[in-house]
Amino acid sequence: MRAWHVDQPQLRQLRFSQHTPVPVPGPGELLLRVLACGVCRTDLHVADGDLPVHRPGVTPGHEVVGEVVRAEAGTGFAVGDRAGAAWLRWTDGSCRYCRAGAENLCPQSVYTGWDADGGYAEYLTVPAAYAHRLPGGYSDAELAPLLCAGIIGYRALQRAELPPGGRLGIYGFGGSAHLAAQVALARGAASAGDAYDQPPEPLDAAILFAPAGQLVPVALQALDRGGTLAVAGIHLSDIPPLNYQRDLFSERQLRSVTANTRQDARDFLDFADQHKLAVTVHPYPLAAAGQALADLKAGAFDGAAVLAP
Ligand SMILES: [Zn+2]
Ligand SMILES: [Zn+2]
Repeated sequence: MRAWHVDQPQLRQLRFSQHTPVPVPGPGELLLRVLACGVCRTDLHVADGDLPVHRPGVTPGHEVVGEVVRAEAGTGFAVGDRAGAAWLRWTDGSCRYCRAGAENLCPQSVYTGWDADGGYAEYLTVPAAYAHRLPGGYSDAELAPLLCAGIIGYRALQRAELPPGGRLGIYGFGGSAHLAAQVALARGAASAGDAYDQPPEPLDAAILFAPAGQLVPVALQALDRGGTLAVAGIHLSDIPPLNYQRDLFSERQLRSVTANTRQDARDFLDFADQHKLAVTVHPYPLAAAGQALADLKAGAFDGAAVLAP
């Protein structure tokens, strides 16, 4: 099959192969034929070596919409079903974080497109217990960005603890932000928008999606007393020194967002089933993944790039 591979960190180049073997699903795994795969900023960090690959030659891509082409009995999926594979691929289920409902913090967790081959390919495997059922009313391409940008934006919104009727500021208005803003407004936020320019009123909550640490004090200073800033990215450049009085006092909070639980994913996909989200998609052929990543890095489009085989 055709697939992209990240051979070495720091090479800043993906390799396209026409002859990668179709993967063989292990016990409890599904084989998916990829219908669409979103291009996430995390893929760029993996390709650029900001996040060194966990396995040389790994195929990136963790916003994967696929058709089940092999499924064992008892997995809950049947051949022909549409299913999603997202960033969180596996956890041990037994550590203290998993037992406490925080599997996103599992030290043994395994990720699609980082530890295991992802969706920049024609086929991939996914453990059935970590595959997602997908909402109706969306095309394959529209569903793909929901599987990371959407889920992470949703978790970031939870972590930002936006109160009902509150004002949400968003720093870095990309694929995740445009979905999180729609969720916030549908849930009754008074406002949810780009906060790069200092907002006219103090914010109740803010989410930093841009991987730019210099925005942390900017966003903290835009918060009202008791407000919360959630940093959504997996990678952030260094944060400049904070001034306690100016940036944190009055019980402002700074929080990170680390991956997501399967429950976050289910909650968000249920929400997307009940509220039709507008998803802006920029399609690229699978063979143009390198161009899609370059365009993402250059900020050449709004919304989300999606590869289709
Ligand atoms: Zn665990
Ligand atoms: Zn992602």
